[in-house]
Formats: sequence, structure tokens, C-alpha cells
Amino acid sequence: MSTGSILLQLQDIDLGLERDRSALNSMPELADLAKKRRAYQKLKADATKIYAQRKDIETYLKDLEGQEMDANDDIRIAQGNVDSSDYRSVQQLEQKLSDLAKLLDKIAYARTDYEKQLKDISAKEEYLAGYIKKFEASVIADTKAAREKAAGITEGIERAERKRAHLLDQLPQDLRERYEKASKQFKGLAVERLEGNVPSICRMALQSSSMAELERVEGIVECPYCHRILVVGEDGEES
Ligand SMILES: [Zn+2]
Repeated sequence: MSTGSILLQLQDIDLGLERDRSALNSMPELADLAKKRRAYQKLKADATKIYAQRKDIETYLKDLEGQEMDANDDIRIAQGNVDSSDYRSVQQLEQKLSDLAKLLDKIAYARTDYEKQLKDISAKEEYLAGYIKKFEASVIADTKAAREKAAGITEGIERAERKRAHLLDQLPQDLRERYEKASKQFKGLAVERLEGNVPSICRMALQSSSMAELERVEGIVECPYCHRILVVGEDGEES
């Protein structure tokens, strides 16, 4: 391979490497994943809140159950203690039973309300749990896909780096340094080739006097216009 075509290939590889590295660093999949993970954290927090609400309602219902049992005990005790020959005692019992009946009504009413709340919140909890499960699966799938994509790009980068090192080995030290320097200076577009009398990057047609001179050199020169490395005598066919 001629020095000129090595330089041109090197430049192609470097441009590709830059493209791939920036693609790897700014993969939209990673930003999407970060967003999804934040949404997932929020869902988990919601689930915790709902769980706590359900536990509270269950506690209230248990309290009501205790109150109901106490009221029923009170009824039994009051009925057992009554002296049915004593009018006042019977009247007190009726009053007490009436109070306890009201209390039991209140308890039943509250229980109906809490039971409805419990049913609603349990349904919500179940729905959210199913949703979170699906969400988890999609985060896992997305993470896997992003990892695979990143691994593919990384593999390509490593392949290009090996090829780059191999090409650099074939260049004399001074030309290697010249290329690296020009590559920085011209942001990756350091080498141009002469197409007819027009350099491929700056596109400034060379005068016939310059052309006559270049025809004698054949190889690597400096473009008189843009000062890039100019490859002369490569007709563009690359292997
Ligand atoms: Zn030029």
C-alpha cells in the first residue's frame, strides 16, 4: 500500500472512530433509560404509599371489630345484671341497650365505609403492582438492548483501533507526527487527495504551474491553499 493511501485510510478510520465514540457517549437509549428509572422510582414510592394507606384502613377495621365485641359484651353484662322486678332497673337497661344499639349502628356504618375504601385501595394496589411488574420488565429489556448496542459500537471501535495501529506502524515516524498534528489542526480532515487539479477538501483548483511541479513529486506534499497534507498520484482506487 502506498503511503498516500495509508494516510487516506487512516483518516477514514479516525473519522469513523470519532463518530462511533461520540455515538457511544451520547446514546439516546441511555437518556431514555435514566428517565425510565426515575419514573420507576416514583411508581415504587406510590406503591409504598398505597400499601401504608391499606394497612391503616385494615387497622381501623380491626379497631371497629374490637369496639363491636366490647359493645356486645356490654349488652350481655347489662342483660345479666338486670333485676326485672325493679322498674328503674328495667328502664336503665332499656336506655343502656338503646345506647349500645346506636353505637353498634355507628360501628356498622363506619365499617361499611372502610370496607369500601379497602376494596378500592386493594384494587388500586393490585393494578399498580401489575403495572410495576410490566414496567420492570421493559426497563430490563431496554437495559439489555442498550448494553448490546454499546457493546456492538465498542467492538467496532476496538477493531478500528487495531487497524489504526497497524496502519500507523507502516508510516515513518515523521509522517506519523505530521498526520497527528494536522489531524488536530484540521479537526480530523487533515489529508486530501488531488482529483484532477482540485484538492478533495479545500476544492481550490491548482494553477497549471503548481500542477507541473506536483507532477514531478508524486506522493505526499502540502496543499498550497489550505496547507493540508495533499496526496498526489492516488487515483482514488482504494483497497
Ligand atoms: Zn487544500
